Amino acid sequence: MQVVKFGGTSVGKPERMKKIATLVTGMPGKKVVVLSALSGTTNSLVRIGDFLLANRPAQATAEIASLEKHYAGFIDELYESEAYKAIGQEIVSRYFSLFKLMAAGKFDDRGYRELLAQGELISTELFFHHCQERKINARLLPALHFMSIDENHEPELEKISERLQPILETMASADLLITQGYICRNHKNEIDNLKRGGSDYTASLIGAAIRAKEIQIWTDIDGMHNNDPRIVKKTVPIAELTFEEASELAYFGAKILHPSTIVPAQKYGVPVLLKNTMDEKAQGTLISERGSRGQFKAVAAKDGITAIKIKSSRMLLAYGFLRQVFDVFEKYKTPIDMISTSEVAVSVTIDENKFLNEIILELKNYGSIDVDQNQTIICIVGNMLAEKEGVLRDVFQALASVPIRMVSYGGSNNNISLLVETSHKEKALNLLNEGLFGL
Ligand code: ASP
Ligand code: MG
Repeated sequence: MQVVKFGGTSVGKPERMKKIATLVTGMPGKKVVVLSALSGTTNSLVRIGDFLLANRPAQATAEIASLEKHYAGFIDELYESEAYKAIGQEIVSRYFSLFKLMAAGKFDDRGYRELLAQGELISTELFFHHCQERKINARLLPALHFMSIDENHEPELEKISERLQPILETMASADLLITQGYICRNHKNEIDNLKRGGSDYTASLIGAAIRAKEIQIWTDIDGMHNNDPRIVKKTVPIAELTFEEASELAYFGAKILHPSTIVPAQKYGVPVLLKNTMDEKAQGTLISERGSRGQFKAVAAKDGITAIKIKSSRMLLAYGFLRQVFDVFEKYKTPIDMISTSEVAVSVTIDENKFLNEIILELKNYGSIDVDQNQTIICIVGNMLAEKEGVLRDVFQALASVPIRMVSYGGSNNNISLLVETSHKEKALNLLNEGLFGL
C-alpha cells in the first residue's frame, strides 16, 4: 500500500483534480489518497471564522458567498455529465447551507474548528465523485473515523493504526481510498485539526500506521531545494535526504513540508518521496534512512527569532543553573531552538514571543538579561557533518563579512545553526550558496 498526498494547488483547479485522478490510477498497487482543501479555501474559512468570532456576520456572509461562487464554477468544470453536475451542486449547496447556518447561530472555538475542517471534507467528496464518474474503483475513507490527537495535541499513532486496520479490511476491494488531510478528532472527540499545512502530517501518520511502502507528497515544486528559492536566485533540488536532514530543514524554514511530517515516517522507516504535480517527470526528493554522508546538503532560514542572554556570576561552576533556566521556559510552554553557553552566561533562542515578558521577569531571578529580537536562525544541513574536515572553516569563510550572534555545532551530526540579525539573512544565504554549493 502507498500513501499519496496532494496539496491545495494540486487540487485547486478542476483540470488539476482530473489530472491527479489520472496520475494515481496509473500508479501500481493500492493507494490511500490524502487531499488538502482546494487552494485558498482554508484561508477563506479562517477569515469567515475570524469574522464570526469578532461578531461581524455581514462580512462572514459576504466571504461565504464569494467562496460559494468559486465552488459553483469549479464543479461545473469538474464534472462532465448533467447527472454528475447535479451531484456536484448538491454537495456544494449542502456545505454552504451549513456555513450559512453557522454564520446565523452562536459561534465559538469549537464551531471554528468544525468550520476549518469543511475544506478537506468538500475536496475529498468532490474528488470521490469525479472518480465515480470515471468509473475508478475508489472509496471514501473518513479521517474523522480514525485520526485523533491527545490532550497535548499529539497524534495517537497506535490508536490510529488500530482503528484503521478493520476499516481498511472492509474496503479491501477498492483501488483508491480517498481521505482528508489535516482534520482529526481531539481527546474530547470534537473535530479538530493538525494545524495549518497538516495534510502532510496526515499522510505520514497514515503511512506509518499502515506501514506503507512509501509516502508520496505531491506539491507544486520539485522537491526540497538546497536553499530558499525566494531569496537566492539559483537553487537546485536535492535528490536524497536522510530523515534527520529533512526534519531539520522542515523545522528550520523549508516551507515545503509541515515540520512534524518526518517523525512518524521515520519511526517505521517508511520513505517519503516529494514530487511536483506541475512537473511529474522531475526526480523530486527522496527522504529515507539512506543518503550520502559528509556533504553539505542544504541551507534554510527561520525568521522571527528572539535571543535571550542570561548572565550570572554565580553560574560559574554551579550545577542546577541550566535546569532553573529551562524550567522557566517549560512553565510557559515555550520551546528553545538554539543554546550556547559560556561559564558565566547562557544564550537561548525562542520563536514564540507570547510569554516573553513573563519569561524575562522570571529569568531576572537568576541573573541579568539581554534580549535581541528580529533574529534569524540559519541552519546548514548535511548528514555526518562532524566527519567532514574543514566544515566550520568553509562556513565561516563563506560568511566572513556577516556578523554572527550565536553558533551551535555538534548538537547533532546533521546541522550547524547560526544566529544572525534578520537584516543579514539575504546576504548570508547568498554567500553560503556560493561558498558551500558553488552556485
Ligand atoms: N488545508 C490545510 C491548510 O491550508 C491543510 C493543508 O493544506 O495541509 O493549512
Ligand atoms: Mg502544504
